[in-house]
Amino acid sequence: KGNLMSRYMSARFASLEAYVPGEQPQDKKYVKLNTNESPFPPSPQVIAAVNREQVGRLNLYPDPECRRLCSKLAACYQVKEENVFLANGSDDVLNFECMAFCDSARPVGFPDISYGFYPVYARLHNIPAREIPLREGFVLAAEDYCGLGCNIVLANPNAPSGRAIPVEDVEKILRTNPDHVVVVDEAYVDFGAESCRRLLDHYDNLLVCMTFSKSRSMAGGRLGFALGSRELIEDLNKLKFSTNPYSINRLTIVAAEAALDSQDYYLQNCRTIAENRSYTVEKLARLGFTTIPSQANFIFTRCSKLSGGTLYQKLKERGVLVRYWNKPALKDYVRVTIGSKEQMDVLLNQVQAILEEG
Ligand code: PMP
Repeated sequence: KGNLMSRYMSARFASLEAYVPGEQPQDKKYVKLNTNESPFPPSPQVIAAVNREQVGRLNLYPDPECRRLCSKLAACYQVKEENVFLANGSDDVLNFECMAFCDSARPVGFPDISYGFYPVYARLHNIPAREIPLREGFVLAAEDYCGLGCNIVLANPNAPSGRAIPVEDVEKILRTNPDHVVVVDEAYVDFGAESCRRLLDHYDNLLVCMTFSKSRSMAGGRLGFALGSRELIEDLNKLKFSTNPYSINRLTIVAAEAALDSQDYYLQNCRTIAENRSYTVEKLARLGFTTIPSQANFIFTRCSKLSGGTLYQKLKERGVLVRYWNKPALKDYVRVTIGSKEQMDVLLNQVQAILEEG
């Protein structure tokens, strides 16, 4: 993808390498543990809300401001509506953040091992990227970002490690970079990390980015949002309304509103995922795996007897999809999404069988 270029393609994209999303196979049914989706369906209220009547209104454009959804989200997170930005998945939010606050004179810094989309957006918008090495064991040291003097994007918990940093560390980074925007990508925060939302009242350079794709079981609905100061949110909206004001579709708006009325359901699912995570880590440890401590709905794990690539391939042959990166720092590991207990048992049984096969 992306290597073939027509003679009409703008030269500014000549060296752009597109992001490669995790596989979404359409041919056979896998135990799908490769793209950090929720194993649970959306709540019953969501399923009821997206009904014939709503589908019957697809001839009409959606509310470009998503006013009702925005007000529900504001209430949910105890902020004002002017502090909420909505977009088509948090990927879209991240894209607008790069577009709005970074350029060739305003670089962006992020960990050298993190969400693979950050460097892609940087190249897309011609933004110099400072990739800050993580420490041993994928540990993020806050001091590496203090007074960095550029915009910063941090996933917390980080991907693919699953490691989280405390809010105090985020605060140090915000305090020492007052003239730059700090984006905290909290796509996975609901599975056990502490959100830095409470810093929003004190730092107007903070943007907290979140998604309905993971804890709210709506990856297919594509809804992401950011919370931040009124000024930052206005900047983001200016770009959204200069790109595609209707990027959040009617059915997603209806579904998301219903999802916000089902908080208990999602909280329970997050607790189940955290339990299944401990269960899986413990069972894998008995099979000789070492796992990075995770606060997310996935784990990054390695086995001394098998390379990440071999494990990925053998699991795929056995109908279990996990994620693997053929890169020096990552190739010993696989990233496994935490699914239902049943899915985890299939994974564990297949791993055991692969190890016994030798
Ligand atoms: N941030 C991180 C750290 C992610 O892993 C992902 C999911 N791949 C996203 C953002 C984007 O998620 P979405 O666009 O589905 O909201």
